[in-house]
Amino acid sequence: MMKALKRWGMLRLAVTTLALAAVALGLMMRQARAPTADEWAREAETPAPAAEALENGARVRPGCAVIQTMGFSRCGHSVTRRVNVPASLAGGDFAAVRAYYDLWQIETCTPDQITMTREIPLFCPMHQVLAINEAGEIVLTRNAYGDGMAVVKAYPLHVEDVDEEARDALMAGKGFDSQADAEAWLASVH
Ligand SMILES: [Zn+2]
Repeated sequence: MMKALKRWGMLRLAVTTLALAAVALGLMMRQARAPTADEWAREAETPAPAAEALENGARVRPGCAVIQTMGFSRCGHSVTRRVNVPASLAGGDFAAVRAYYDLWQIETCTPDQITMTREIPLFCPMHQVLAINEAGEIVLTRNAYGDGMAVVKAYPLHVEDVDEEARDALMAGKGFDSQADAEAWLASVH
């Protein structure tokens, strides 16, 4: 009986120590990240519920909306989509949100809605893009994943078969509005 009580006492001490350590760590982490000038400015513009911002310690609610805007630098278009946070992120704090969406720039962050942007150095999904695969063959590709190109068609043509200017364009990826336009251009350069 005494032994059990003693063990209980030690367990409680361990739990208390852990809790104190967690609080100390939380304070350190909060201090480690001072708001940037941009964030101060944004907060000044939107006096909206500052206390509700995740930066101030609020937590993500289940079903929180995520508004993601991808900017495609090769064509200048952007695409915005709306999804919900994964269930695993519900109850998470600002640090958890930033860690989960580490490829994104978080713009605004409240328990019910998080907006974020991301710059992607590709053409958007509206274009047909001629490029070169690993074997040096000319292929028609399309942005199928937002951040990745998929091969639509391969041509029996090697990068060495086209002139130098065309080669440079293909190395960078050359965008067209349609497959017909892409193939007409290809026919004109070899
Ligand atoms: Zn585009």
